[in-house]
Amino acid sequence: MMFSAKGQAESQRRHREPPKTPSLQKTIFSHIVAFALFIVVILIVGFAAVFYAVQESENERMLMAQASSLAEELNGCSLEEQESIVSVQRNAGIRITLIDDEGTVVFDTNPRAYGVNHGDRPEVGAAIEQGEASLVRQSATIGSDLVYAAVRLDDGAVLRLSMERQSISGFLGSLMAPLLGVAAIVVLIVFLVSRRLSRRILGPIDAIDVENPLGNEIYSEMTPLLESIDRQQRQLKAQNEELARAESFRREFSSNVSHELKTPLQVIAGYAELINNGLLDMDDLQRVAGIINDEANAMRSIIDDVLILSRLDESAFDRDAHTLVDLHAVAERILARLEPVAREKDICLSLEGECAQIWCNETLVEMALSNLVENGIRYNVAGGEVTLALSDALPDGEMPHGVPCAVIAVSDTGVGIAEDEQQKIFERFYRIEKSRSKETGGTGLGLAIVKHAVAYHQGTIEVSSELGAGTTFLVKIPLRASKTNDGDGRDVL
Ligand code: ADP
Repeated sequence: MMFSAKGQAESQRRHREPPKTPSLQKTIFSHIVAFALFIVVILIVGFAAVFYAVQESENERMLMAQASSLAEELNGCSLEEQESIVSVQRNAGIRITLIDDEGTVVFDTNPRAYGVNHGDRPEVGAAIEQGEASLVRQSATIGSDLVYAAVRLDDGAVLRLSMERQSISGFLGSLMAPLLGVAAIVVLIVFLVSRRLSRRILGPIDAIDVENPLGNEIYSEMTPLLESIDRQQRQLKAQNEELARAESFRREFSSNVSHELKTPLQVIAGYAELINNGLLDMDDLQRVAGIINDEANAMRSIIDDVLILSRLDESAFDRDAHTLVDLHAVAERILARLEPVAREKDICLSLEGECAQIWCNETLVEMALSNLVENGIRYNVAGGEVTLALSDALPDGEMPHGVPCAVIAVSDTGVGIAEDEQQKIFERFYRIEKSRSKETGGTGLGLAIVKHAVAYHQGTIEVSSELGAGTTFLVKIPLRASKTNDGDGRDVL
């Protein structure tokens, strides 16, 4: 149990620790050291091999020179004289052998060879044939590699000098100490150079100004990285700004909603208090009940509109609810529903034109058109008109996304909107005439919902108006609206 708990803690610790990233300085250092040592070893072995070969051939040449000069001394002497001459020759490390014309060793500085026949030795045979010969071979007597130089004397005997040859491994072994010394010096130099080098390379990287990635002029290889940092920074900045905007927009909207709800609530609370205190007679009671009813309806309208807007903000309308909608039928329905209201205000409603069926969210489109016609009635004058005109438009530069659209124009002959107000009216809770809007049941959210619903269908809405003459809202919706909206819709509303 203890063990597993410990193991778990260890695995958690390992889980939390960030993976170790290699140090650039160490990487540069280890690579340079490895490369330098490799070069040093190659150079030393190469030089040693050449040096060894040169030394060997020099040894052979010197031995042959000595053999030739001794042979000159021995020529013309009797065997006894020869023996006495060679026996006084003492040259450290050089073995002298005198072999008679039958191959028998008659003198040797190595006493073990006396009387042995060396006529079959390659250097002896070669000297008998050619006069002199030198070679390297393993000695049967000594057992190690020797350099031999043999010279044939005038009387047919052979003088042979030999000396031990240093093996290549022994030769390299003798070089080991200087080799290690050189390697140590190389490591030291490489350490200093790589430290300097890595500092030089890392210096500009350390000094990168991440706040302004493209302002850094360092290695060209870093440019893609700096460009991508810059791109990401700009994206982050834009996202932060967008979030900040959305947040302040949300805060402003919430405070507007509570402010709008507070007014009817205060009216309701005030009258409720009067009723409660029994201060109203029967006639007043009926009037007050009417007021409370109106204020409650106003509150309900605001809450309904806020709910629709937040559903649009969250794109919560069912995107699969697009159906093929006959706009003419929708328009007829709207006008029939609003006819009594219009008649009461002495306003004439009319429907013109036809248009193709469109794929859309019918509830949203009906809500948007209904809002526009209601506004046409609400901000009209007695005896005025509201016309809903339908038509199709082929794709051209005027159409959103250049696709075929349904064009819906809602015109009225009402009070009109001043030019500087024409864009503001789409903002949430913006009203030109607050009292008139409230009197007629407006929430200040109608056009915001219209604009959002049109954007939901990737359509556009424009307003043209003249004060005192009337207003026209021109809505264009693609016949086959794709089901994405958001973004711009949320920003502009
Ligand atoms: P409301 O609920 O107050 O009508 P809207 O968002 O529908 O809110 O409209 C915003 C404001 O734009 C209105 O308060 C009104 O002043 C103005 N407006 C809207 N439609 C018209 C119109 N057809 N003619 C004149 N003014 C209009």
